[in-house]
Amino acid sequence: MIPVSAYAAQNPTSPLAPYHFERRELRPHDVLVDILFSGVCHSDLHQARNEWNDSIYPMVPGHEIVGKVTGLGSDAKKFKIGDIAGIGVMTDSCRQCKPCRDYMEQYCVEGMTGTYNGYERDKTTMAQGGYSTQIVCDERWVYRIADTLHLPGVAPLLCAGITTYSPLRYANVKPGDKVAVAGLGGLGHMAVKFAVAMGAEVTLLSTSSSKEADAKRLGAHYFVLSTDAAAMKKLESHFDVVLDAVSGNHDYELYLKLLGLQGKMLVVGLPGEDPKLSPFALIKNRRCIIGSMIGGTVETQEMLDFCASHNITSDVEVIPIQYINEAYERVLRKDVKYRFVIDMESLK
Ligand code: NAP
Ligand code: ZN
Ligand code: ZN
Repeated sequence: MIPVSAYAAQNPTSPLAPYHFERRELRPHDVLVDILFSGVCHSDLHQARNEWNDSIYPMVPGHEIVGKVTGLGSDAKKFKIGDIAGIGVMTDSCRQCKPCRDYMEQYCVEGMTGTYNGYERDKTTMAQGGYSTQIVCDERWVYRIADTLHLPGVAPLLCAGITTYSPLRYANVKPGDKVAVAGLGGLGHMAVKFAVAMGAEVTLLSTSSSKEADAKRLGAHYFVLSTDAAAMKKLESHFDVVLDAVSGNHDYELYLKLLGLQGKMLVVGLPGEDPKLSPFALIKNRRCIIGSMIGGTVETQEMLDFCASHNITSDVEVIPIQYINEAYERVLRKDVKYRFVIDMESLK
């Protein structure tokens, strides 16, 4: 077994604190990764604080992982020692069902194996995430990273990146499309970058007037305060796509009404409260609501290659692990530009 240092949540209310556990010995197709950087996703907060009512403790959060390959199983072929590699929100799946055979493992009929807050496929080993010094993962769920990219800025691509890239691709966003992104946080700022790179005309819908200049710097063509009822009214039936990356409880209809004929609302944000929705707002313009969960292994590699060719990374604030509880408070105050990333050197 491989001893690992980490930070863990022990219950929904205590601050995260130092924790030690062991990773499994390498299986033939496993890769051992020394973690360099680990992004802080709002899903880490939701789960550390049991906001989805499914938390298992002790919990080591973290599913935006970039590191260096330091060990290989006997049959692992994808990497060599010293390569830079990434790991995201899942680390395994049944590998047999139709979605798994189609490399959409996040929709595995038996359920994917999450990087943390669950169990490995043996149903007994707790899966623990990236706020830790090392991780072991089957090579199928470990991604190649171009070493030309700014590595702290790569970590968030493994969740915030793929979670926004996948639905924008599914909606076939193309030059000339009008796309709105709701919520300028970790996911939202990646959605803006991707939609702009795909050639869309992008509007950022935010509750924070302080983010207007950043939205434009990130490439958004327009910025609208979503609390400004008159401005939102003017945008009714205007967009082809609205991507909802909002973490807190909110009015879904406010965004749905912005869709024009056959427009698509892409829901990726996961607040704890269920939405209320009028069917009248849905039938008008034959609107469509599409949920989307991260992305499969092939699409994740495609997204990372897209980022390398378009020089896209996340805008990050690098922190030591000891700052994690303060960082969580700032995420809740919407005070993040636009992803906290933990430098794992601080734990070594
Ligand atoms: P984040 O960095 O905290 O950003 C969320 C942003 O949403 C905030 O900065 C804020 O932007 C806006 N917001 C927050 N509360 C709001 C409210 N009550 N009403 C309106 N706007 C509000 O979060 P994130 O890491 O990007 O994650 C966003 C959501 O996606 C989370 O719920 C997370 O769990 C979920 N998620 C889903 C998947 C998936 O596979 N579907 C994957 C990863 C994360 P403004 O200041 O601009 O208003
Ligand atoms: Zn995430
Ligand atoms: Zn499966």
